[in-house]
Amino acid sequence: MTKNCQQCGKEIIKQSGTSKKQWEIKKFCSVNCCLYFLAKDRMGKPLSEETKRKIGLANRGGIGRGHGWHHTKETALKISKARKGMIFSKEHLKNLSDAHKGIKLSEQAKIKLSKFNKGKIVSQETRQKLSGRKEEKSYSWKGDNVGYWGVHSWVRKRIGRPEKCKLCNKEGRKLVNGKWSIQLANKDHLYKRNLTDWIPLCISCHRIFDNQRI
Ligand SMILES: [Zn+2]
Ligand SMILES: [Zn+2]
Repeated sequence: MTKNCQQCGKEIIKQSGTSKKQWEIKKFCSVNCCLYFLAKDRMGKPLSEETKRKIGLANRGGIGRGHGWHHTKETALKISKARKGMIFSKEHLKNLSDAHKGIKLSEQAKIKLSKFNKGKIVSQETRQKLSGRKEEKSYSWKGDNVGYWGVHSWVRKRIGRPEKCKLCNKEGRKLVNGKWSIQLANKDHLYKRNLTDWIPLCISCHRIFDNQRI
């Protein structure tokens, strides 16, 4: 079964692990297409070069990363190799996606997540290469194998509380449940310590984004 990406027109092929419901809501071939489309839809205009740069759609080679986070070309290459080596099952992605929605994890999901994190082995060598000097001093550095919550809190400390949704420009506010309305969404679910992999999104944009990701 195939359909075409609503942004770029590229053919999307239904994967065997994709449920009928997931397939029905899937509209884009990639996270980037999803972001472009949502930005157009929500802001009434395509992403500006500035926004693209901020959310890391441009300069993926490691140039122009903000917040004092700079990768050498060599490091960027190693990170991309490390990523390619990781295989995620649909189940793992689903668990992560559930965790991502900010819902309190069930005990079962926690066990699954911790199993998943343990399974994500990054060699000592890669860890050393990926780790930056600054981070080693300021945070308890556990290598790259810290899982979703570890990376998420690291990113939160770095970025702080996001002011606005990157897609619809809605300003952040405190919700009735005490949470902040703008959340940090991870672009590829790999949970690397790359600040550019995280985009501040309001709850409604986040929901659409999560539903559309691959
Ligand atoms: Zn596309
Ligand atoms: Zn939004």
